[in-house]
Amino acid sequence: MTEPRVEVTRPEPPESDVSQPFWDATRSSRLVLQWCATCDRPVFYPRAVCPRCLGDRLEWRPSRGVGLVYAVTVEHRPQDPRLASRAPYAVALVDLDEGVRLLTNIVGCDPASVTVGMPVVVTWDPLSDGRQLPVFTPAEGGSRG
Ligand code: ZN
Repeated sequence: MTEPRVEVTRPEPPESDVSQPFWDATRSSRLVLQWCATCDRPVFYPRAVCPRCLGDRLEWRPSRGVGLVYAVTVEHRPQDPRLASRAPYAVALVDLDEGVRLLTNIVGCDPASVTVGMPVVVTWDPLSDGRQLPVFTPAEGGSRG
């Protein structure tokens, strides 16, 4: 297999010891979330301790990668010049079914068509180092299954 060459066309998030399992999973297009084994709730973004109970028994579980748009704005003039060629694009807060909220982009559609409450599914935006950024696209037929 040849590795696809990917240009850096966006700011790329840093990796840390805590977030490494998250990013490793994205290399094979898997979205994973931390869960607190003490209060049995999901945690995002990745942390060393649960923000609710301060427990440190956090484990990684797969996410279904489906959710609803909580809020959306269309960026026409990004401040970061690396994003200029992508404009206009939709920046959104997405509530995953598991109960966490992600700041992300909605892709694969007219950014102006993205609405609050729209069902979305995860898709992937390749980064230059093999990691992938989870972004979202409208769910097929708008139904959730
Ligand atoms: Zn907890």
